[in-house]
Amino acid sequence: MKIQHVDSTRPRVLLDGATGTELERRGVSMDGKAWSASSIRTAPAMIREIHADYIRLGVDVITANTFSLARHMLRPAGLEEQFRLLNQEAVRLALQAREETASAPVAIAAAIAPTTFCVDSRRCRPAPADARNWFAEQAEILAEAGAEILCVEMIEDIEFGSAAVAAAVATGLPVWLGFSCRQATDGRMMLWDRRQSLAEGIDAIAPLGGEAACIMHTEVSLASEALSILRDHWSGPLGVYAHSGIFVMPNWQFNDVISPANYVTAAEEWWQLGATILGGCCGIGPAHIALLGERFFPRP
Ligand SMILES: [Zn+2]
Repeated sequence: MKIQHVDSTRPRVLLDGATGTELERRGVSMDGKAWSASSIRTAPAMIREIHADYIRLGVDVITANTFSLARHMLRPAGLEEQFRLLNQEAVRLALQAREETASAPVAIAAAIAPTTFCVDSRRCRPAPADARNWFAEQAEILAEAGAEILCVEMIEDIEFGSAAVAAAVATGLPVWLGFSCRQATDGRMMLWDRRQSLAEGIDAIAPLGGEAACIMHTEVSLASEALSILRDHWSGPLGVYAHSGIFVMPNWQFNDVISPANYVTAAEEWWQLGATILGGCCGIGPAHIALLGERFFPRP
C-alpha cells in the first residue's frame, strides 16, 4: 500500500516531533520499566491532543505512541498481557486524532522499536527467535489496527534491528528504517549499541527492505555526519528526526534542549545533504515542528 500524498521517489515529508517526551513535558508520569507504555491507559486524551497539535501544524505523518509497546518492553513492567490491546489502542488514538482534526491528508505511522530500556541492553534483549516472533506479532497487530507506515525506530544493532525490519517488511506496509547513532571513543559513527558501525549496520539491514531511511534518536550535533554516511550507503529517500537532551530512565531531561530556531539551523544542513523527510525525536516538540514546517514545508 502506498501513501497517496507521499511521493516515495522524491518525498517531501514533514514528520511530527516527539510523543513520549512531549507527554512528560505536559506532566504525564512515565513507567519506571516500560516508559511511555502506561500512558496509553493513564493519559489517552493527552496522547490524542499531542497528535492533534502536530496535525494542526500541517505534518504529513503522525506516529502512534507504540515505541514502548514491544513485548520485550512490556514484560518487565507486568504489562505483557495487554500487548495486543495497548498496541491497538495506541493506533486508535492516532486514527481518532486524524479523524477529528485533519483538514489535509495525514498518514498514520506506528513505531516498532528494537531497543530496550534496560541499563545492560544486551542482557535484556530477547533471544533471536523470540525477537523475530514478537516483532512479527506486533507488526501484524499494528497493520490490522490501521497503521499505514511502520517506522522501525532506534535500530541499535544489526541482529535486533534486522529482526524488527524483517517483521515490518513482511506486513507489506511501507517501512521506514530509523538508525540511531552514537560515537565510539575514537570518534567513529556507530549504531547506538556501539558494537557495529553505522555503515556496517546500513549495509546489513537495508537489503531486507524499507522505503525510506532516517537518522533518528541521534544527537543533533551528530546527525549531519550520520546522514552523510547513510547517504553513501542508501539510495532511497533520506530523513532526519534527531533528539535533544538526555534520558535518565524514566524521564527525559529537558534542561539543555535545543531552541526551535537552532534546530531549524541544524536542519538546513540535513536539507542540503538531501534529507527531505524531517521531524523531531525526543525533546523536540510542537514549537520546533512549527518552525521546521515554516522553513522547509511552506503551505500554499
Ligand atoms: Zn527519541
